[in-house]
Amino acid sequence: MKEVAVVSGKGGTGKTSITASLVVLSGNAVAVDGDVDAANLHLLLQPSVRETRDFYGSRKAVIDPEQCTSCGLCAEVCRFDAIYRNRVNPLFCEGCGVCHHSCPEGAISMREVVSGRWFVSDTPYGPLLHAHLNPAEGNSGKLVTLIRKRAREVAMQIDARWIFVDGPPGIGCPVIACLSGADAALLVTEATATGLRDLQRVLAVCRRFGVTAGVCLNRYDLDPAASHDIEDFCRREGLPIFGKIPFDRTVVDAVVAGLTPVERGPGPAAAALRQLWATIQAEWGFAGQDPSSCRMPGSNRPML
Ligand code: SF4
Ligand code: SF4
Repeated sequence: MKEVAVVSGKGGTGKTSITASLVVLSGNAVAVDGDVDAANLHLLLQPSVRETRDFYGSRKAVIDPEQCTSCGLCAEVCRFDAIYRNRVNPLFCEGCGVCHHSCPEGAISMREVVSGRWFVSDTPYGPLLHAHLNPAEGNSGKLVTLIRKRAREVAMQIDARWIFVDGPPGIGCPVIACLSGADAALLVTEATATGLRDLQRVLAVCRRFGVTAGVCLNRYDLDPAASHDIEDFCRREGLPIFGKIPFDRTVVDAVVAGLTPVERGPGPAAAALRQLWATIQAEWGFAGQDPSSCRMPGSNRPML
């Protein structure tokens, strides 16, 4: 089993469409939506939820009015202005515990709270692990780690060969949670003025965590000069370019229709995505895999 994290230094690079296409083309993968703050992989894979679990990602202070003497000390020590008139506003409480340790009456306890939910779902192309973090909640990295762990268990149960993790944009905590321990990272960038800078940032994170990386240059024909700069950078860094996907109107049509580009094809983008998939197999494992021989049990969408 190989786990590939699909990441980019920023949003809007087409990462989710590419991840979903790889899931479809593989026919033997577990998909993970690592963007727990703004999940969207489900929009293309159209899952039916099989299992729902609460995520306890944070603690909040709770004041026991029976023990409280209204001394006001907790409101004084709270740096987040979360306490007003002996009541804690859970939206402001960061769970630091200072009030708990300061209260002379022992009236404040710290309680685990539900910060979101996570799901195991079935899609026509295999299981999908995804999650929803409640607004203003932190610990997204912890939630990503949790669903990745569950994804590996599911993959072992069904003997899946691949896990594709659609990472969140940026290089923050949830991206690190997607990359750490992954077998490889597909770095998706695009031919724009900021594309090279974003690629450099996310590559630095991969190298920091020792993750093998390959590049997918999306919409490479939009700006030939920017595209040339990115390819030049990759050459200098010894970073392989696994795929170059042209701008293709059918990709937009596919997303609008709730389909992956390879389902919506044919078109130049769909052809390039197939080539990308072939390169990933050749470079990262299971070369020559016949998709029709490893279709998920129960899959009913056509294999393309
Ligand atoms: S520090 Fe304790 S006793 Fe004082 S107001 Fe806060 S909860 Fe009440
Ligand atoms: S746990 Fe920290 S943030 Fe929350 S109310 Fe207490 S002092 Fe304020």
